[in-house]
Amino acid sequence: MRIPNTITKAIKDNLKKGSCVALTGAGISVESGIPPFRGKGGLWEKYKPETFAYTKGLINTLRNQPEQLADFVNDFYGILLDAEPNPAHFALTSMQKNTILKSIITQNIDNLHQASGASDVVELHGNSYRIRCGECFKQQSLDKEQLKEMCALLSKNKKSYKGILKVLSRYFPHCKCGGRFRIDIVLFGEVLPEEALAKAYRELDKCRLLFLVGTSGMVQPASSLPLYAKEGGAKIIEINSARTALSDLCDYTIIGPASESLAEILRISGLDIL
Ligand code: NAD
Ligand code: ZN
Repeated sequence: MRIPNTITKAIKDNLKKGSCVALTGAGISVESGIPPFRGKGGLWEKYKPETFAYTKGLINTLRNQPEQLADFVNDFYGILLDAEPNPAHFALTSMQKNTILKSIITQNIDNLHQASGASDVVELHGNSYRIRCGECFKQQSLDKEQLKEMCALLSKNKKSYKGILKVLSRYFPHCKCGGRFRIDIVLFGEVLPEEALAKAYRELDKCRLLFLVGTSGMVQPASSLPLYAKEGGAKIIEINSARTALSDLCDYTIIGPASESLAEILRISGLDIL
């Protein structure tokens, strides 16, 4: 991939310590085998988001069609659990370790930035390897093995409402405060974690160059962050396989797979992939 000279110049001019930030979306994980949820072949084609992306819909499905809920949980984690970070995740981590990239803000819930060695990732929509108490917000991690075990048990017990309930209660138990643990991701209609959003704004306050990677810019409020950065004086380089709703706002758009574009940006920056 060849990046136009104007973009190369913008990158070189801004390679100062801590001057860049990356905001990532589902597209960066496509090359890891996680397809976007929306569009052809996505999770929302098989399961109605009006039901499965809302807490109330999930609870009603558990009550009325428990087998369908078991299938959904299996398909959801089936997509995530086998995925490994791809060169695009490693490229951003390399930039972070070399202190060019101040922080990585992500809308993804797949933990792949962290798995590639990135630290202090700002998770706007939570993390599917974590549960949190619905009352006191205490958080707890679930590892891949536990989640695989949960999926296997749900499959085995999917004909029995009581069986499914028993499995879910084991992995989403009661908290000491009396509340119940739930998956620590932001479902539709829920507000973003206040701390993460505040941190995202803080990081963008001092940003000179924002890499906008693999996001369609359709999900609010994450999609308003690039405008915030731009108003603060940042230049924006969009990296996407197609133009998006945010392309006109961006100073530059590089069309292509994120792994190739970021590998070239690493080369321009004089850095090696990890
Ligand atoms: P989106 O699904 O709305 O858009 C994905 C974008 O990625 C598109 O613009 C597409 O053109 C681009 N893209 C696809 N393949 C690419 C590639 N190889 N390289 C570069 N770009 C590529 O994603 P979004 O804007 O992040 O919004 C979706 C929401 O769904 C988010 O809130 C996110 O939490 C959630 N989600 C997360 C994951 C994940 O964690 N991996 C996966 C699906 C959905
Ligand atoms: Zn609690």
